[in-house]
Amino acid sequence: AKAAGGNRFALADAEADARAITRHGLTTALPTALDRGEFFIEYQPLVHLGDGSVHGAEALVRWCHPQHGVLGPDRFIPLAEHTGLIVPLGRWVLEESVRQANFWQERHTDGGPLRINVNLSPTQLHHPRLVAETVDVLERSGLEPGALCLEVTESALIGADDDLLKPLRQLAEMGVDIALDDFGTGYSNLANLRRLPVSVLKLDRSFTQGMQQHPADPVDLKIVEGIVSLAHSLDLAVTVEGVETGAQAEQLRQIGCDTAQGWYYARPGAPDRIHSLLLADAV
Ligand code: C2E
Ligand code: CA
Ligand code: CA
Ligand code: CA
Repeated sequence: AKAAGGNRFALADAEADARAITRHGLTTALPTALDRGEFFIEYQPLVHLGDGSVHGAEALVRWCHPQHGVLGPDRFIPLAEHTGLIVPLGRWVLEESVRQANFWQERHTDGGPLRINVNLSPTQLHHPRLVAETVDVLERSGLEPGALCLEVTESALIGADDDLLKPLRQLAEMGVDIALDDFGTGYSNLANLRRLPVSVLKLDRSFTQGMQQHPADPVDLKIVEGIVSLAHSLDLAVTVEGVETGAQAEQLRQIGCDTAQGWYYARPGAPDRIHSLLLADAV
């Protein structure tokens, strides 16, 4: 047993080493990856729970690594945050997805405004040129500020002081929506929400996971109901993440959630996918 234990540790060590090597390799490859055009964006639709029509799409970045294949953001966003590459990478994601959203809009003038949701990491939030660069990207693309929603995680705003909130307030005043992402995973005081310049709450996937059982966990349902009514009383819209079944969608609609996102509707995918969903909506 001792030997087996020893082997297990050796194996764990080897795995840890391999991970560290990969992490190191990825970190050194990151800066050139942007210049080489190895990043691409997948879009996942956000759907109105009321009628199932497309409300917008969230931009989710991926890295097509020459050796490791397609890597998800969880593999490299933390590294990019750590090295500071998140600033040019985030700028590229914003530019590219805003350009894409404007393209969709120009082809669907009758379909109402299509929203584009872009994730902002904490480092970007602290960057002194965030507001100026966002204004610049919007102006160059022709997309109206009201079509852009920037998603900021709840944890990035915990204990946020006025210096941190000021750029977000400026963006909100311009008409850009700010969404509180992964809501419910942090420890933020619900009353604190009033202080934040947010207009959308994105309920974390962990809530929808609790609703997966049949029948859904009544406590989870009560919690979601409570959050939704509080959010609405503060004039916040509620988006739910991770909707995987029609039963969940129906329950969330009855509770009064506004929009939803998840595999039940569509996995993140190429921009064409959103384009065809919009065409389908228009008929
Ligand atoms: P997030 O912002 O919470 O994005 C939602 C994640 O949930 C995405 O994972 C999406 O693919 C996944 N998802 C969507 N629907 C379902 C579902 O029904 N079931 C399940 N199990 N999962 C679902 P993804 O694409 O791997 O992104 C992970 C995280 O990486 C994102 O979490 C976001 O925090 C971060 N991220 C992605 N793109 C960017 C970016 O451009 N900039 C920054 N700073 N972060 C990004
Ligand atoms: Ca997000
Ligand atoms: Ca436009
Ligand atoms: Ca989220």
